[in-house]
Amino acid sequence: MAMITLSCQNNSPSMSNEKNTQHTNNPYYSRTDTTVLNVPDAEWKKVLPDSIYQVARNKATEMAFSGKYWKFEGLGIYYCAVCGNALFRSDSKFASSCGWPSFFQTIRKNSTIYKTDNTYGMSRTEVLCGRCNSHLGHIFDDGPPPTGKRYCMNSIVLDFVPDKQ
Ligand code: FE
Repeated sequence: MAMITLSCQNNSPSMSNEKNTQHTNNPYYSRTDTTVLNVPDAEWKKVLPDSIYQVARNKATEMAFSGKYWKFEGLGIYYCAVCGNALFRSDSKFASSCGWPSFFQTIRKNSTIYKTDNTYGMSRTEVLCGRCNSHLGHIFDDGPPPTGKRYCMNSIVLDFVPDKQ
């Protein structure tokens, strides 16, 4: 039921104001405040929809080809769905066959931070939001020029806002 509600909200035309209904219970969400947050998981659990919490704070991964942005081509900016931090511009998104939205660079150098992840018998680099420290996905070295990087992200922790016409 929660997923149905969420997808309905995501299909509606994007809002011009900073918050949408998904963020009304989340006092930390801001697309303008870049102050680094240090909010405990117990608090995030109270303010985030469970589907976002499971990826952002429990490092769950959404199923390939299931998210709302893997095939999406709109022009605009992708923000952290947890805190509103600007993460990627659409011109750094590329068509990847992996089934998750993929980008070759972040909008700012400190948009994201990185952590070694040795879980599941693999050695990977985890990508976290530079403002709220939420799990976003992983980064790989098989991306296109100019960076050669592939930020492999979970759609559920991204908020796309289209450019104004
Ligand atoms: Fe964030």
